[in-house]
Amino acid sequence: MQTLNGDQIAAWLERAAEVIEREKMFLTELDAAIGDSDHGINMARGFTAVRDRLGGLDRGDVGALLKGVGMILLSTVGGASGPLYGTLFREAGQKAAGAAALDLAALAACLEAGLEGIQRRGKAAPGDKTMVDALGPAVDALKAALRAPAAAGEGGGGPLAGALERAADAARTGAEATAPLVARKGRASYLGERSAGHQDPGATSCWLLLRSLAATAAV
Ligand code: ADP
Ligand code: MG
Repeated sequence: MQTLNGDQIAAWLERAAEVIEREKMFLTELDAAIGDSDHGINMARGFTAVRDRLGGLDRGDVGALLKGVGMILLSTVGGASGPLYGTLFREAGQKAAGAAALDLAALAACLEAGLEGIQRRGKAAPGDKTMVDALGPAVDALKAALRAPAAAGEGGGGPLAGALERAADAARTGAEATAPLVARKGRASYLGERSAGHQDPGATSCWLLLRSLAATAAV
């Protein structure tokens, strides 16, 4: 697979809704340790709404599709993560405006724009124990795959699938690496040193979304 079109992105979102629903309690348990126990519920509410309203979104224009998803997440997820995930999808959609499909370069640009939007809005730097710690390494992995396209093809499902698999792996490593960190942004930061020792819920949900995307591209 070389590109992702609107139907494939819709398939990703359906898969993501399933995965988030399945991992709802896991995400909520992570948030119980350093937050207010709602991250899994917030994300499941948002992605269920996305799945239910996918039929009304324009799949011919990937930019419009991603922006529409951002609007749904913004109005349904809530918490700190709702506006941030809303921003990720809306900025990605802005970058993809008018595109019928995304190749690796376009996808990397979309996710990078989304990351920049999250950081503009939430002011988190790498190492602050947030979703940035999963998304940042994933964007870096996509950009590295762009610079070394032959290596990215080793994944088996084509260059895009291989690159996305590496990106998802980088997100997982990044999410796991949040465990020892002290939170400097969001609700977990209220705990100060006591936030150390627990994996960040938002970084974990970000990894799950990217793993779902990699799995969709591998089909
Ligand atoms: P809330 O903290 O309002 O209950 P959620 O539980 O849904 O919202 O989401 C918490 C997650 O949001 C955190 O685990 C973290 O990854 C992310 N987050 C919180 N604040 C920020 C921020 N300023 N920048 C980036 N991500 C953030
Ligand atoms: Mg919470």
